[in-house]
Amino acid sequence: MPGRPAPPRVLTVAGSDSGGGAGIQADLKTMLALGTHGMSVITAVTAQNSLGVQGAWPLPATAVVAQFRAVVDDIGAQAVKTGMLASAELVETVADLLASVDVPVVVDPVGVSKHGDALLAHDALDAVRHLLLPVATVATPNLDEVTQLTGIAVADEEGLRAAAAAVLALGPRWALIKGGHLPGDAVDLLTDGSAEHWLRAPRLDNRHTHGTGCTLASAIAAGLATGSTVPEAVARAKEYVTGAIAAGFALGGGIGPVDHGH
Ligand code: PLP
Repeated sequence: MPGRPAPPRVLTVAGSDSGGGAGIQADLKTMLALGTHGMSVITAVTAQNSLGVQGAWPLPATAVVAQFRAVVDDIGAQAVKTGMLASAELVETVADLLASVDVPVVVDPVGVSKHGDALLAHDALDAVRHLLLPVATVATPNLDEVTQLTGIAVADEEGLRAAAAAVLALGPRWALIKGGHLPGDAVDLLTDGSAEHWLRAPRLDNRHTHGTGCTLASAIAAGLATGSTVPEAVARAKEYVTGAIAAGFALGGGIGPVDHGH
C-alpha cells in the first residue's frame, strides 16, 4: 500500500507537561485537531499537574540537537513552533538549529507558568532577545513576557502598540501581543510594523485555561504549515483557542486544561 499523501508536518520544540494540559502535549493535540502531523523536540521534562510545576529537568543540548536533526533531515517540517526552552544554552542551541532551516517559525517566548513557576532561567533572556527573536516569523508574548523582554508595562489596549513596536525592534517579522491579561475583552494586536490586525474575543468565564499560550502558538504554526498567511493563521488560531478555552474543563484540584476535542 502506498499510503495516503502526508498531511503538512509541524514541529514543536518545547517542554513536556506530564499533566497533558500544556507544553508538548497541548502542541501535539492542537496540531492533530488542525489536520497536521505533529512532531516534537523535547527540551525539558516537567513534573506537573493542575496545581503547578513540581520539578523541571532540562535535557542536554546534544539530545535537543539529535531530536531536531532526526526529524528535520528525514521527515521535514513545514513550520516550527518553540515553547519552553529552559536555559540560555538551550535557547542558543535552538536558535542555531532554526537558522539552519528555511520554514516559518512561531516563537512563544515562554517565561513563567500561570502558577508563577519559572520555565526559563533569568540569564536566558538575553539569548531570547538577541538570538531567538531575530529568527522568528511570529513572536507571541503575553504581557508579562513583554515586560520581561522589553521593560514595557502595558496598562490598556492602546499600550499594545508600544509593546508591539518594542518586540518588533528585537527582530521577529510579526509580533502578536496577547492582551488577555488586561481587563475586558481578550484583545490581541498582530502587526509587522505596517499592517495592524486587532483580534478581539469576549472574555470567557472559565478558569480552566492551562495551555492557552502553547495552543495558540501551535495553531498558528499549523496554519502556516498548511499555507495560510500570517494574518490568516493567527485569526484561525485565535478562533481555535477561544473554542478550546470555552470547553476547558476541571481536572485535579487546580487549573484544568483547555480542550482540543470541541
Ligand atoms: N508547562 C510547559 C511545559 C509549558 O510549555 C507551559 C507554557 O508554555 C506551561 C507549562 C504553562 O502553561 P500555562 O501558563 O498555560 O499554565
